[in-house]
Amino acid sequence: MADILYFNGRFTTTDERVLGVEDRGFQFGDAIYDVIKFLERRPVLLADHYRRMERALRELEIRSPWTESEFERVVQQLLERTVAADGIVYVQISRGEAPRAHFWPESISPTVVAYSRVFVFPDAAKKERGIRVITVPDERWKRCDIKSVNLLGNAFAKKRAQRAGADEAILMADGFVREAASSNFFAIKNGGIVTHPLDPHVLPGVVRDRVIGLALRARIRVDERPLREAELFDLDEAFITSTTQGVMPVAEIDGRVIGNSRRGTITEALQVTFDEVERSSPQAEPMRAQ
Ligand code: PLP
Repeated sequence: MADILYFNGRFTTTDERVLGVEDRGFQFGDAIYDVIKFLERRPVLLADHYRRMERALRELEIRSPWTESEFERVVQQLLERTVAADGIVYVQISRGEAPRAHFWPESISPTVVAYSRVFVFPDAAKKERGIRVITVPDERWKRCDIKSVNLLGNAFAKKRAQRAGADEAILMADGFVREAASSNFFAIKNGGIVTHPLDPHVLPGVVRDRVIGLALRARIRVDERPLREAELFDLDEAFITSTTQGVMPVAEIDGRVIGNSRRGTITEALQVTFDEVERSSPQAEPMRAQ
């Protein structure tokens, strides 16, 4: 079934082939993207996603196609046309289309696509059971703080996880944990949380930021530092965060069970409070600046 598609100022469906072959997103990976969750056709944490997209566009010198209120309006119009109650909106902004050359013309206009799609979020059983992960080398480029469409390293890591019967891959570099292929990674030891600091090695996850805020509010210690590989196998609990997975317990890393093999109490508490944030205040202001 075709999905509703917003393309450069008009609405159509994903049945229409809208992109030119010389779009720089297609030829150079010269584009950024974002994934926004919606529940009962209300976007969740939209302002956080907008802020992250704007930063990525600035960093890559791609002209922003919209103000925040114009962006909100596009998402609202897209969701008004969407049949599914719950799902995701995928937004991609490329630098635009021009005859193929590494240099881009200064006058280029961005190509903007956004479409909504039904998505089945993890159910209660999965959220309790958690996921299996494997460790793989981080083979991505050096600006992982920008949500660009250069996802080959992530896609290979994820494929390796799938072939190993796991759900997610943790990306390792120089003996340290960075993040996961499509989520941020959190470790829990002796009642405190450890997660990688915000720097060019990790994506500033919207859920990561919220969960740190919730943990601090619950007086849980949060240490933003790279976790050593050796620490990975001596944890009490671990979880990943992302827009589609929320707070998801990690049950096993490289076949080794984490903690006592059940969802840990801190993970569960954060999962419950984050789910409430998503449901109750989708447009709330962020608790921490990114
Ligand atoms: N890290 C990577 C590499 C990701 O691709 C994602 C989400 O797609 C995340 C972290 C989590 O980000 P968010 O919480 O904003 O979904």
